[in-house]
Parts: sequence; C-alpha cells; structure tokens
Amino acid sequence: MLKVGLTGGIGSGKSAVSAALASYGAVVIDADAIAREVVAPGTPGLAEVVAEFGEGVLAADGSLDRPALGAIVFADKARLAGLNAIVHPRVAERSAELMARAEAAGARVLVYDVPLLVENGLEPLYDVVVVVDTPDEVRVERVSRDRGMPPEQVRARIASQADRRTRLASADLVVDNSGTREELADRVAELWRALLERAA
Ligand code: ATP
Repeated sequence: MLKVGLTGGIGSGKSAVSAALASYGAVVIDADAIAREVVAPGTPGLAEVVAEFGEGVLAADGSLDRPALGAIVFADKARLAGLNAIVHPRVAERSAELMARAEAAGARVLVYDVPLLVENGLEPLYDVVVVVDTPDEVRVERVSRDRGMPPEQVRARIASQADRRTRLASADLVVDNSGTREELADRVAELWRALLERAA
C-alpha cells in the first residue's frame, strides 16, 4: 500500500483533491479530523487537556474551546509541547489504526491530508509527498469567497505557513490548482495514474 502525504497551504485545494482521489478508490485520512476526534467531548484526550490546562479551555457545551487553548499554548513553547505530548501520541495511534484497517481492506493507495506536513517536517513518514500548488492571491480569493474569511486574515494565515518554494522543495509530485475545477479534475486524473504506477 502506497502511503501518500498530501499537503498545501490554506485554501490550496487539498480537500478537493482528496475527494477526487477518494472517488478513484484511495482511502483518505484527514489529519485535522483526527486531531479533533482525539479531544472530542467524552474522550480521555480531552480529560487530559483539561487536567493540564484547566476548565478555562472548555466551552459552555463541554467541547474544547480552541481559541482559549490557543491563547495559552501559542504564547508559550513549553505549554505547546505539553499539549503536543497529549495530542500527538493519540493522533499517531488513531492513524495507525486507520492505516491497518485500509491495508486489511486491500487499499492500494492511502492518502493522508496533512495541512502542516512540511512545516512539521513529516516528509519521512510517507512514500510520496504530493503538494497542491495554488498561487497565494488565488487562495485569498477562493477562501474569502467561499468561507467568508476576510482577505487580510487569509493573507496572515498564508504568511504563518511554509512559503511556496519551501513547500515545493518537499514535493515528489505537484498538483497545479491555479485553473478551473475542470482543469483540477484532469490534474487529479493524471496524479491518480502516477500514484497507481508507484503503488505497483
Ligand atoms: P484548508 O487547508 O484551508 O482546509 P484546502 O487546501 O482543503 O483548504 P479546499 O477547501 O479544497 O482547500 O479549497 C479551498 C476553496 O477553494 C474551497 O471553497 C473550494 O471549493 C475552492 N476551490 C478549490 N479548487 C478550486 C478551483 N479549481 N476553482 C475554484 N474554486 C476552487
């Protein structure tokens, strides 16, 4: 089973590419979804986060108040490391579980959608790193149009992530998403062929 790390900056089109790959038969694992799942209400992960950071990181409905937690950990590296020590092993465990399940089901291609793959130096975990490459201004336009996020906020997020050249330097394969959705569909069809070749 070929392990593919799919990455790209905010609004580059990872979800669109993942969905198309899934339609071809890839098993897709969403790293952000797992990171949310392991600290969902009622989980031991959330209990540990509260034990470490206090009830102040809980929203009124008992779910994790991410902005409140972010305000603590992004101001203090030691506290961020404390949070990672709780979350990362659980994410790793859940990922391994999903991977074993995909393997048992006979999947040929397993795709991990990992937004911060390059920022976190995770390239060695994958057989192939695929970068979705979309010009910054196109991303600003799409994200502000589709999610109602102010353009300045999108630009700030882009500035906080790896830049284009750094991300491309980690790529084994690149998907250009500067064009229309139809053009993207063609690029993903090519990508799928390339992945099957590598899987064989
Ligand atoms: P994030 O990391 O922020 O979750 P993402 O990389 O998963 O983003 P998508 O959500 O797939 O990106 O795409 C960003 C937005 O751009 C979405 O609203 C999507 O529908 C739209 N989009 C993606 N590709 C195209 C395209 N080729 N043409 C027009 N809109 C597109």
